[in-house]
Amino acid sequence: MNSSLQDAPPVTTLDETSLDALNAMPPEALLSWALRVYGNRAGIITSFQDTGCVMIDMMSRTAPGLRVITIDPLRLPEETYAHIDAVEARYNMLVERFQPNPANLERMVRQHGEYLFFDSKAKQEHCCGVRKVEPNLRALATLDVWFTGLRRDQSSARTTTQRAQWVERCGRPILKLAPLADWSATEIREYMSRHDVPVHPLYAEGYTSLGCVICTTPTLPHEAPRAGRWRWFNYLENDAKECGIHIGGSGI
Ligand code: SF4
Repeated sequence: MNSSLQDAPPVTTLDETSLDALNAMPPEALLSWALRVYGNRAGIITSFQDTGCVMIDMMSRTAPGLRVITIDPLRLPEETYAHIDAVEARYNMLVERFQPNPANLERMVRQHGEYLFFDSKAKQEHCCGVRKVEPNLRALATLDVWFTGLRRDQSSARTTTQRAQWVERCGRPILKLAPLADWSATEIREYMSRHDVPVHPLYAEGYTSLGCVICTTPTLPHEAPRAGRWRWFNYLENDAKECGIHIGGSGI
């Protein structure tokens, strides 16, 4: 490993060689490196889908104590809240939950109604901005190293996902790590089965990607994994179907 990774302080001091070294590190090594070097300034942000749960299991073995954060838009299915509780119990940890700013939420609902996301792409993005992106930015303000469960096979917009990259958020660079970016859905499922990782119950009901109620629906066998997200926008390019957390923006 590049020697500068052993005691790297601010992520801004990591050079391209360090980034190459991070890109080549196994997932478990990335997790333990981040905890050792960045401590509480490193964390997993997860929606508790399969890839996030695999990362949590790896963390429990190689980097216990690494922060686990979720963005709770206050519209998740009951099954997701129960699943988060089950994962907390299984790994004996507390998940940090970041929720929408109450004033922003009240203003949005008063102006546009609860179901604005049906009206237009712009209003869906506004809803995601208030309920997801702004709380995610608040979470990121506490981090230098952001672990995410993005994988290249999840959608056409994610095929170039790097395992390690800098992103600009909150007016500064953050090291964004996707340790399982090159894993397939099959590899994820095999790991979960081998290590008895808790599985979100909605996968058994035909869901292949999970988000808020109404905005997430099950998929048919011939459909892409994220086809069930904002299904009424499926006439758009896949690239357009993101909530905004992974493409930047202020959130409100
Ligand atoms: S997924 Fe739907 S309900 Fe959830 S924040 Fe986005 S638009 Fe709003």
